[in-house]
Amino acid sequence: MAGFRSLARQVRDPHNDLALRRYSLRKCLERFAPYGHRATWDHLCTRAGFDPEDRSPDPARLEAALDELEEARAVWLAYERDFADRRKREKHDGLRRPGVIDDWHRLTWGGHGIAWCEDPAVHPGAPLAAVLRRLISALEREPGDLCPVCDSTDITWKQELTHEPFSGPLCEHCGIVVPRPVLTAEALMQIRTGNRRPALLAAAAAMSALSA
Ligand SMILES: [Zn+2]
Repeated sequence: MAGFRSLARQVRDPHNDLALRRYSLRKCLERFAPYGHRATWDHLCTRAGFDPEDRSPDPARLEAALDELEEARAVWLAYERDFADRRKREKHDGLRRPGVIDDWHRLTWGGHGIAWCEDPAVHPGAPLAAVLRRLISALEREPGDLCPVCDSTDITWKQELTHEPFSGPLCEHCGIVVPRPVLTAEALMQIRTGNRRPALLAAAAAMSALSA
C-alpha cells in the first residue's frame, strides 16, 4: 500500500494523467484526513477552487490542495512526536496522564478524524494547518467551555455519529466534533444534558442583576 509521500509525488507528477493525479490526492486522504475523508475532500476542493466532483481539475489547483494538506500533516506529525516524547518521559518518571487525553488520542491514530465533521459540507473555513494549531494549543492548556477552533459556545450533544466516539459534543457553528479533553467536566455535563443555554442565561442574568 503506497504511503502518503509516494501518493503526493503521484499528484505532482506532470507525466501522470489528470485522473490519476486527482485519484492520488484522494488516496492521500486515506492516510491523513483531519475532518474525515469526505469533509476533508470537500474542504480542500473548496479552498483550492475546484468542484469536488470535477474529474479533471486544473493541476495547479490540485497541487494547491495537496500543499494545504501537507502543511497540516506536518503540524500534526510534530504534535504526535511531542506527544510520544512526553509520554516516554512521563512513563520514565512514573507519571500517568489523565486517561481522557489518551482515550481521545487513540481515536485519532494516523490523523483520521482529529476534528471529525459529521456533515461533510460543514467544516471550518480556515486553512487546515491553522485549525490544527488551534486545536493543539487547546489540548495543551487547561480545559475550557468553548469550541477550540471557532470559540463558539454553540455546542450540542450528538448521538449516532459515524466515527468513534459515536456520540459527543458537536460545534453547531464550525461543524467539528469537539475533542472531549478540551472541555471541562462541567461544560461536558451541561452540553450532554442540554442545560448549557439555561446555565449561560442564568449567568448573564446574575451579571445584569449585579450591575443594576
Ligand atoms: Zn466550532
